[in-house]
Amino acid sequence: MPGMPNGKPAGKPCIQLLSDFSCAIFGDPSRPQVCEKFMPEEDICGKNKEEATTILAFLEDYTCTTNTKSP
Ligand code: SF4
Repeated sequence: MPGMPNGKPAGKPCIQLLSDFSCAIFGDPSRPQVCEKFMPEEDICGKNKEEATTILAFLEDYTCTTNTKSP
């Protein structure tokens, strides 16, 4: 990830995320393939920003390697 050489820690916003929630490196070859290839899905994105934020917070917590909670 440009600007985050060790990856994006769970719970931290991407350094490339702008205040209007757009991507600072959209269309740039340095944009990670995972971002380039991601296709929006309602299961992940929800129906609105609030649902997306809730789902993403759950997934980040669930997949955090330093998470000590059981699933
Ligand atoms: S699309 Fe990728 S690089 Fe751009 S802000 Fe989102 S996570 Fe960061």
